[in-house]
Amino acid sequence: MAVPKKRTGARKQATRRSHWKAIKPATTKCSHCGATVLAHTVCTECGYYKGKAVSIKSADYVAEEVKPKKKTSTKKATKKAEAKVETPVEEVKAEETKAESEEKTEE
Ligand SMILES: [Zn+2]
Repeated sequence: MAVPKKRTGARKQATRRSHWKAIKPATTKCSHCGATVLAHTVCTECGYYKGKAVSIKSADYVAEEVKPKKKTSTKKATKKAEAKVETPVEEVKAEETKAESEEKTEE
């Protein structure tokens, strides 16, 4: 680790720190209501962004429908779907036959 050879004087330190400044945040006017808004952010007054109602705050807001997840491959998905459909039917038939046989034995 580098070690300073001499102590930094007050003048040198002050000169360096003279460039430390607070930056004014970039603001724009809202296209919907005209309020002063931080750039690239949703308007806190009306909830609009780029002319669209984005926030729940705006009265015109309509929630977007959640899209179903994409299926990885159509062939595999259809095969799986067929398998799922086939197995329950067979099980139901087997159960029905069992139930019928049990009824017969009771009589
Ligand atoms: Zn606005």
